[in-house]
Amino acid sequence: MRDDLEGTVLAERYELGPVIGVGGMGVVHGATDLRLQRDVAIKILRSDLAADNDARRRFEDEAVMAGRLTHNSAVTVFDAGEDGSLAFLVMERLSGETLAHEMATGPLRPERVKAIAVDLLGALQAAHGLGIVHRDVKPANVLLTNDGSPKLADFGIAKSAEGSTQTSTGLLLGTAPYMAPEQLAGDPADAFTDLYSLGVILYEALTGERPFPGDSPMAIAHSMQSGTPMPLGTRLPDLDPMLADTIDDLLSRDKTIRSRSATQLLGSVEPASPNGASTQRFQRPPISDTQLDYEPTAIHQAPAVDGDSPEYGVNTSRRRTATAAALICGALVVLGGVSSIAWHRIATIVPDVSTSTTINAEPLPKSLSDALEQLKSSVK
Ligand code: ATP
Repeated sequence: MRDDLEGTVLAERYELGPVIGVGGMGVVHGATDLRLQRDVAIKILRSDLAADNDARRRFEDEAVMAGRLTHNSAVTVFDAGEDGSLAFLVMERLSGETLAHEMATGPLRPERVKAIAVDLLGALQAAHGLGIVHRDVKPANVLLTNDGSPKLADFGIAKSAEGSTQTSTGLLLGTAPYMAPEQLAGDPADAFTDLYSLGVILYEALTGERPFPGDSPMAIAHSMQSGTPMPLGTRLPDLDPMLADTIDDLLSRDKTIRSRSATQLLGSVEPASPNGASTQRFQRPPISDTQLDYEPTAIHQAPAVDGDSPEYGVNTSRRRTATAAALICGALVVLGGVSSIAWHRIATIVPDVSTSTTINAEPLPKSLSDALEQLKSSVK
């Protein structure tokens, strides 16, 4: 693919080659770092988004977030800058293949899935340890090296504990099929929502199907409402029960179970300490729920449920939140016909619903908003 920018030298240092990918936020070029004489990949904010303050801030935040993270299973960001009207970000150059491409060829072998799980969990653990929540973990955001190792990319909507709120009021960012139930219901994203998204990827990688089918937030919420996914051990009776249970547990509504599952997965490949405990216990990241609150989101326009403990673990308010989320999802399905949620697709080279989405949420009709408020307060 060729475009007008091929041959351009950015910041007197990076010579752009051909376009190697197109995403929701930007166009990715192969490029040469003339100073260090090495191949890099450069993402340039799409010109039609350059004047959009939200998009520009997300793009800049991607550079800051990814630039802070150094992990073998996360794409390394070398540099970021602006040249005239072009905002760009310089990354290590990978094969261009993504896990989405690999998964499109059919279900993956369990050993492959387990290796991917452990690598991505390592990257997430490192990000969470820095107070960074990715918020858009999905196969298209997992790039592959030439030897097939996965690297987590695209921190475009990641959020740090210290960072300012990036979303405009009424915008919920993410990719619906990979969002945790509470995230879909508009609750704040946190380390546990990233773990859930990883669970969806792993389930899909093994079975070729997502645990909760649907091509819109409504349809997925409806599917979530109608129960739990078929356990992996039932779908794939020959699968290692430990791997099956671990992935099923990442999909739990209970965040403690997700966390335990992540710990177990890491422990399954790391040496155990003398007393038998994993040396890689999945740590609670230094992120408080308060710091991670979204602005009131689009889907339900409801305030965050009060009284949630910022600590990991099950408590009654967490259970109430989960119940509220489930009820809200159900209410959305029932009342969806009167809501004005728009589902936008953004250009991508992976043309399915796994596209990062801005769910543009205009204010809900008052009757729906009131009904949702009542539902929430009824489970407090
Ligand atoms: P969205 O922003 O909607 O999540 P996306 O994740 O597909 O979309 P990008 O991160 O912009 O968007 O990447 C688009 C494509 O560019 C990728 O699918 C991949 O093929 C290619 N690409 C991105 N980064 C690199 C890289 N560092 N090395 C090689 N190819 C890359």
